[in-house]
Amino acid sequence: MDNPTSSLHSQNIQTKNRFPFRLGFTFLFLVSVGLNIHFLYFDQNIQVAVASVPQEAEKLSQNFPEAFHSEVSQNETPQLVKTSESIIKPASFTVSTATMLEGKTIHSLSFKVRNSLNFTVCKIMSREEGCAALSAHLGRLMAWFMDIKKSMRNGDNLEVVYQKLEEPEQFKILKLSYKSKLFGKTFEAFYFDEFDPRNGGYFDSEGNEIAQRIVEAQSPIRQYIEITSLPGDFRKGIGGHSGTDFKAEVGTPIFSGFAGKVTRTNWNVRANGYCVEIDHPKLGIKTLYLHLSRVKVKPGQIIQAGQQIAESGNTGRTFAPHLHYEIQKRKNRKIIYNPFTFKHHKSYTRKIPSQHYPTFQKTVELYNSAIKES
Ligand SMILES: [Zn+2]
Repeated sequence: MDNPTSSLHSQNIQTKNRFPFRLGFTFLFLVSVGLNIHFLYFDQNIQVAVASVPQEAEKLSQNFPEAFHSEVSQNETPQLVKTSESIIKPASFTVSTATMLEGKTIHSLSFKVRNSLNFTVCKIMSREEGCAALSAHLGRLMAWFMDIKKSMRNGDNLEVVYQKLEEPEQFKILKLSYKSKLFGKTFEAFYFDEFDPRNGGYFDSEGNEIAQRIVEAQSPIRQYIEITSLPGDFRKGIGGHSGTDFKAEVGTPIFSGFAGKVTRTNWNVRANGYCVEIDHPKLGIKTLYLHLSRVKVKPGQIIQAGQQIAESGNTGRTFAPHLHYEIQKRKNRKIIYNPFTFKHHKSYTRKIPSQHYPTFQKTVELYNSAIKES
């Protein structure tokens, strides 16, 4: 910033005796001083904006994804061109394609995260196409790797291969790859169900399952498609989601994981659908089972651990068939436990059986090629 001024100044001395030149250089000198002041002031403004906004931005965009629309870049010079209406993305920012794989249309996206998953995905695809649902879906899967509210960084790279399902805003993620700056590594998840078609899951490239499972004897549901929400899930607003949602076909048997006594059934059916609440005094908890199709117990009934109590369904306020399972602290129902960290629920992960491993490797290659082709 100092150079233009000093070089002009030295030229000024050299041309002391030539009057017309002096006038010209004085004019240029003044312009240069003006520009210096302008740039210094402008630069300062940019510094302040970059330094103070990101943490707030992250918080806001998690809590109010719909309302948050300002652009913030933390680690790189913004490549986006702002217009009054919208933001034009340069071609390198996003790759979005649809290809055919084994007779199915599959989609792939490759992009850098900006502000939040929801914010970024909704810049690439529209709300009508289900951007919010897809980003919630991605967030749920990533929740097994990291605390996305704390660990996501602007510029982290995300690749996803997915299928659109028939129901609106329903997706099946086939591959997710997340390159994290904070952890200095890439997390990967591949969907695979060949060894157990009714209980597919997400595995890393070595065949280790990513999501945990509750041991069968204690699990409220033994066959489910996937976990679609965990307690505290940000998509449900500031308070967060209070239970764990297991996506499952209507009619799937539901069990009580622990011995207890039924306290009530079918209350607030409009929201909860058919439902059961069981008290477990010895464990200091109550468990709740919502959106059922059939309830097989009555209030006051004593329940053994592992006893079937209902069938899963799609009743009450739901978008798709699932079981909402909730573990509440007995003396303070606002305290909710995550079944996968709750001390009384034993959990485990699976490994792809060796006889299925070659097929799994082919699946991994297939999904990887869907990204490479794009
Ligand atoms: Zn739920």
